[in-house]
Amino acid sequence: MAYIQFLGAAGTVTGSKHLINTNSGPGSKSGFQLLIDCGMFQGPKEWRERNWQQMPIPPHDIEAVVLTHAHLDHCGWIPRLVKQGFRGPIYATPATIDLCGILLPDSGHLQEEDAAFYNKHKKSKHDPALPLYTLEEAQECLQYFRPVQIEQVTQLSAELSFRLVRAAHILGSAMAEITLRTNGQSRQLLFTGDIGRVRNHNVAPGKVVHSGPREGESADLMVMESTYGNRQHPTEDPRPELAKLVRDTAERGGSVIVPAFAVERTQKFLFVLKELMESGKIPRIPVFCDSPMAIQAVEIFMKHSEEYTDETRRLLSQYGSPLQWPGFTFASTPEQSKKINDCKSPCIIVSASGMVTGGRIQHHLAQRLPDSRNTIIFIGFQAQGTRGFTIKSGAPEVKIYGEFVPIQAQIAALEQFSDHADTPELLQWLRSFRAKPKATYLVHGDPAASSQLRDTMTKELGWDVQVAQWMQKVEVK
Ligand SMILES: [Zn+2]
Repeated sequence: MAYIQFLGAAGTVTGSKHLINTNSGPGSKSGFQLLIDCGMFQGPKEWRERNWQQMPIPPHDIEAVVLTHAHLDHCGWIPRLVKQGFRGPIYATPATIDLCGILLPDSGHLQEEDAAFYNKHKKSKHDPALPLYTLEEAQECLQYFRPVQIEQVTQLSAELSFRLVRAAHILGSAMAEITLRTNGQSRQLLFTGDIGRVRNHNVAPGKVVHSGPREGESADLMVMESTYGNRQHPTEDPRPELAKLVRDTAERGGSVIVPAFAVERTQKFLFVLKELMESGKIPRIPVFCDSPMAIQAVEIFMKHSEEYTDETRRLLSQYGSPLQWPGFTFASTPEQSKKINDCKSPCIIVSASGMVTGGRIQHHLAQRLPDSRNTIIFIGFQAQGTRGFTIKSGAPEVKIYGEFVPIQAQIAALEQFSDHADTPELLQWLRSFRAKPKATYLVHGDPAASSQLRDTMTKELGWDVQVAQWMQKVEVK
């Protein structure tokens, strides 16, 4: 009998990797082996170490990969899979492929840098420390990507076919609907990947891509994310609060610094700023978008008009590409980045990484955190143990580049910019299903979030829901 095995994102939010084997014999090569997502484990060391473990089956026995979206916790292990012998097609939407084209080489580059750092400081017990894969190896793997359009059916074998449907999480994101035909029986499997916001634009503004996951789904078995399984986003429009923060900061002669992931979140935030500026709700102060990837990310975004919401279409037809907006500057070189330090009058700086774990945001914060006129606005999730978490939690100082930097600036957080549906939104989407799945397995959540969502779904919907365990195999009945 066919089975699914959870190779990642079970008990944690990273490392998404789910194997479908059409044959029940463990290690058997006779069935078709398909991987849904191939993400990297991130965060605590205990999980990151799993990036170095062998797959339970040899990568060259996997026939294909279907990728839901370009976040590294869903695609970041692909270069490693190829390095270990996988040579099959990797199916994804055209926008996801374009984003992987910048994100995977960048990930390889960061890993080479990390390995070099550990070797220089002799901090690794592995001698020498090695990158999981290099920039070059990440570029190599891009040749295996195959574009598929949303809703296009692709036949993988006599038994398996799939199509991608909208997930509305980030540019290019999709869910994977799998049709499995074995022993004269046909079954539908749905892998949600990450699920985007369901509600309207006032509570999740700046949504630049297709709004809301596809409704009216059905599946015999569903593998579903549960990141926000025990949380609710604020329900009020964040724009008035954002406008007030920018106005107040500018009036006292300070600057606004926003740590944000260079892809998606930055574009989303720039559109909201532009709207606030054009409607006169914030002053026209200079905006610096400081990231080596930012220009490429905007270019990819501009190319994929099939992904836009009506609101984005309207903004673009009115104001054109963000790369041409007056007063908005994109810094790609380190010199351009350092020049932003010279700006002493009020300005807005958007830079990566979003959790201040690395990148250029570090030097902007080292320079501007000690000044009480400035404001730091967090628009993304801050994981425990990151500098972003320390700053957001009200600590008096934070270590950046080995030095303790006093925190005098105002600190604010706007949770509404999340790209994940919260619990009420997930339930709203699930209620649109045509029929309830026979079994649902929750992945991609901290244990507390997954178990609470299981309880909520069981109670509110009467569904059969279980929390997936790492390496667990479940039969497709
Ligand atoms: Zn994601």
